[in-house]
Amino acid sequence: MKIDISTSSPIQLPRLSVRALPRSLPPVANETIGSFVARLAFVNHINCRDLIRVLAPTCRSQLRAPEKIVRLHLLAGATGIKSTHLAYALPEIRGQLLDQGVSGLKGMTIAGHPNRIHPACRLCMGAKNVVGRVSVWRRPDQNICLRHGIWIGRDVTTPADQFCVNDLPEMLQAQRRHGKLISRYGHRAVNYHYGHAHNIVDVSSRLPSPTKRWSRMLYFFEREKVERLPRSYSSAAMYPEAVALTNILISPYWRHSAVHGSPIEQDKFFRHIQLKDLTNGPPNLDRSLWGWIREHQPQPWRHTGQQFLDLRTHLRSPVAE
Ligand SMILES: [Zn+2]
Repeated sequence: MKIDISTSSPIQLPRLSVRALPRSLPPVANETIGSFVARLAFVNHINCRDLIRVLAPTCRSQLRAPEKIVRLHLLAGATGIKSTHLAYALPEIRGQLLDQGVSGLKGMTIAGHPNRIHPACRLCMGAKNVVGRVSVWRRPDQNICLRHGIWIGRDVTTPADQFCVNDLPEMLQAQRRHGKLISRYGHRAVNYHYGHAHNIVDVSSRLPSPTKRWSRMLYFFEREKVERLPRSYSSAAMYPEAVALTNILISPYWRHSAVHGSPIEQDKFFRHIQLKDLTNGPPNLDRSLWGWIREHQPQPWRHTGQQFLDLRTHLRSPVAE
């Protein structure tokens, strides 16, 4: 069977259907539309741009942003896969399903900030016999594939940046703890506080220091037997501390002690962080931590008696709500 590609007319009318491709393949969960269309084109030995012209016949000038123009019903026709199945798997065109009145998308990973595009876990793809590079939308809380013990999160830009963390149990525990925090406080709040915690730990331990992050880095250097490591190793090495600090910053008790508490309560907050060994040096001297405290303190120019602006409500959730 051949794809119907007629490109002579300058005025393109929307097509209602396309012929099925000779070979179809299922999308991976949360795969980017660009990744899926590229894989479809590859297995069918056709040019990716030609395939996009078929799937997005109404607009040829935006071929650099296929996610904005690929039509769900045409993709379903080309692959022989149901529109609902495609839309649930591909966040960028899921909105077209909403246009058809379909609901039940709550909790699904969205396309765009704060989520990022990363390569899918190479071992998961291998197990599913998926050939070629697959890019997916990853939430900030998805950093380790617990099935394979592989770092797949921050600073992973190619499958080569993924690496095994199975021999560091605290890494796997941190990923599970991250998930539990979301169950308790919700995606939006955890994402907000994790961003702060990650920044505080990162600034505090970026340079070689007697911290757990650098103990892990030394372990990674020794294990891999190389002189340089991808950036993903550095991000992974601080993950347990970033999650542990998130657990403190998000706690109403500790947040109140730090932001509104008396000097004695504030000292208790700092000692708690020191006990957990989360920063390099005394936490009460940590400028990033003080920055977080000041950012959350009520400011005099805000109206008296009015709740101070909660930035969390202005941040985009990584999942559909
Ligand atoms: Zn995996």
